[in-house]
Amino acid sequence: MYRQELRERTFVDWPFREDCNCTPEKMAKAGFVHCPSENEPDVACCFFCLIELEGWEPDDDPWSEHVKRYPNCGFLTMKKDFTELTVGEYFLMEQERLKVFHRKVCHKKMACFRDFIDHTLGKIKSLM
Ligand SMILES: [Zn+2]
Repeated sequence: MYRQELRERTFVDWPFREDCNCTPEKMAKAGFVHCPSENEPDVACCFFCLIELEGWEPDDDPWSEHVKRYPNCGFLTMKKDFTELTVGEYFLMEQERLKVFHRKVCHKKMACFRDFIDHTLGKIKSLM
């Protein structure tokens, strides 16, 4: 998903196409991929920092919205186009991206585990 054209292809059912700031091209250029759900058809996620934004308005500027919400995103702070990165720079970027990904997965798992513990404690207390 480092390539803009691959990200842009994810915006097949994107509602904002013309005469607005958040076209698929601009969304992809700002690092977003379209990841809709049944209840949230306009969710866009940064492939790098994994921030999810929804409730887009035609005047929203994707790059500005991304910077506003996560200014330290490694994609936003990348000094070159992806095609100009050296192999070493690419692997450093990928290392950072995977760190972000694993942190998010671990936080989700820990939240599930906490819910499970709370549920189990509730059951135990109800039996006493
Ligand atoms: Zn990002």
